[in-house]
Amino acid sequence: MSSASRPAARERQPFASSPTARRHGQRQARKDTAPELALRRALHAQGLRYLVHRRPLPALRRIADLIFASAKVAVFVDGCFWHGCPDHGIQPQTNSWYWAPKLERNRQRDADTTQKLEGVGWIVMRVWEHEDPVEAAKRIEQVVRARRSVRQRVQRSR
Ligand SMILES: [Zn+2]
Repeated sequence: MSSASRPAARERQPFASSPTARRHGQRQARKDTAPELALRRALHAQGLRYLVHRRPLPALRRIADLIFASAKVAVFVDGCFWHGCPDHGIQPQTNSWYWAPKLERNRQRDADTTQKLEGVGWIVMRVWEHEDPVEAAKRIEQVVRARRSVRQRVQRSR
């Protein structure tokens, strides 16, 4: 969230007029969401170690849900509603004047984060909250292990 637009947004914030909107509001405020914890457990069970809620780049104010620092892999666990999942990212009909630009900003910010990190050699992996955590963990493991073995080969050949 950019701090510049925050007061105006708060002023204009509607009542949580539907149970759906209320639920989403609560979900965004929470850290360590159930999908994040499930993914972390699955990765841990596969023997992977990672850092939680870190900036991949100190100078870039974006926090990844997980990072594998030496492999330079950043993982974001994206909520279906907030990040516009193709299956569940419905546009709320109530107060759409409020939600539509907010969700669009999230999408732009996600794309911008990916672009900036990939621009300096990171791999960005996004996991939807609806995904099977074990499947997602396998996907991440493949990328992290492949990255590590490439880096080791490069180091050995020096
Ligand atoms: Zn979804």
